[in-house]
Amino acid sequence: MNIESREVTYRQVIEQVFFKDESELIIKTGWAEGQEADLDVTYEWVGEEPEWAKGKSIPSLLEESDPSQESMSYSELAELTHATQVERFNWCSCEEQETFPYADCPVKTICEDCDAVAVITIQPYGEGKMAVYNCPNCGESYDTNYDGAGL
Ligand SMILES: [Zn+2]
Ligand SMILES: [Zn+2]
Repeated sequence: MNIESREVTYRQVIEQVFFKDESELIIKTGWAEGQEADLDVTYEWVGEEPEWAKGKSIPSLLEESDPSQESMSYSELAELTHATQVERFNWCSCEEQETFPYADCPVKTICEDCDAVAVITIQPYGEGKMAVYNCPNCGESYDTNYDGAGL
């Protein structure tokens, strides 16, 4: 049978979102031809829905997961710490151990006693701060004269 006519009646855009923890979300946005204002949006996780996404609406989660969306207020930004950054974004740029955006970002170092990789975190100590060394072999030790040097 010969074709009399062909037309596009529906268009769809598929976007893949890759999160730092390797979760992958597929966003399908479709609309009837000429009806771009009336979008059908569906979200699908590839595999299991990650724990941190459970109970949250995906649009709000996308907004808070994207640091380029400056949706945070200045006071929220000022209060961010390594701990809250990791809680919010599941990731902190200190993981590469090149930049340490927050005072409490853990710094890796070599333990002076056993040469294992230890982690230094800075914690408040009276009016000032102290370094807490955490060595997998030697346990915790404290340095109230920490000068900021890591690995
Ligand atoms: Zn950090
Ligand atoms: Zn040690």
